[in-house]
Amino acid sequence: PELCKKIYKEKKQKKQFTANVSHELKTPLTSIAGYAELIENGMARPEDIKPFAHTIRKQALRLVSLAEDIIQLSQLEENDGEILFEEVNLTELASDCVQSLQINAQSRTVDLHLAAPEAPIYIKGNKSLLEELLYNLCDNAIRYNRPGGKVQLITSCTRDGHCTLTVKDNGIGIPKDAQSSVFERFYRVDKSRSKATGGTGLGLAIVKHIARIHGARLKLESQVDEGTTITVTFPTAD
Ligand code: ADP
Repeated sequence: PELCKKIYKEKKQKKQFTANVSHELKTPLTSIAGYAELIENGMARPEDIKPFAHTIRKQALRLVSLAEDIIQLSQLEENDGEILFEEVNLTELASDCVQSLQINAQSRTVDLHLAAPEAPIYIKGNKSLLEELLYNLCDNAIRYNRPGGKVQLITSCTRDGHCTLTVKDNGIGIPKDAQSSVFERFYRVDKSRSKATGGTGLGLAIVKHIARIHGARLKLESQVDEGTTITVTFPTAD
């Protein structure tokens, strides 16, 4: 009966996922089709053409992000067994992430920096998946922040050999009753903020998968109006 329950639950989740994807696709597609139709029918004034084209492009880009995230999720689910693990320098990855997201942080006047010990921190992992995990956490910390806010990436190792990666922000925070749901696919606290900042609602679901593949634990601490801290604790090397 336990197995039946599990299969039933998985089926239900798959159905829900398909329904969500259809809904997420429909909104941008309807908007693209609508604006294109106005232009085609000659209903758009010359001065409308540029803003309409802008909306069409923005919605098309949203579909691209959504497709990328859906593909990534399904690949993570399929290839569980055959992912290449190597020695990865966690601090170097975090530093690269800070560098590549610095532009996003600056455009929102958010201070983004890394706090790490001098010595490199090596863990066994898949480099590109860990890059993705870091990127998603950091990108969220910047997007759900305020002008003048701070985001800190911290890498460290405990005496008993556990290495951790922490992304800490002093942004808008997550309400207590939503904290257990944010790692679910398409769950968002504020749908309009997520969409306006380019979110797909899949970032943390991807993070959860990548953590699981690495045998890592995820801890979320958050307070509304004070900020959010997400800590990833990796298993010991042996
Ligand atoms: P999205 O693409 O919407 O950002 P995610 O799966 O990455 O999707 O996150 C799910 C939701 O969790 C977000 O819509 C947002 O409401 C909330 N969230 C994630 N990270 C943070 C954060 N650092 N601070 C506040 N809220 C966050």
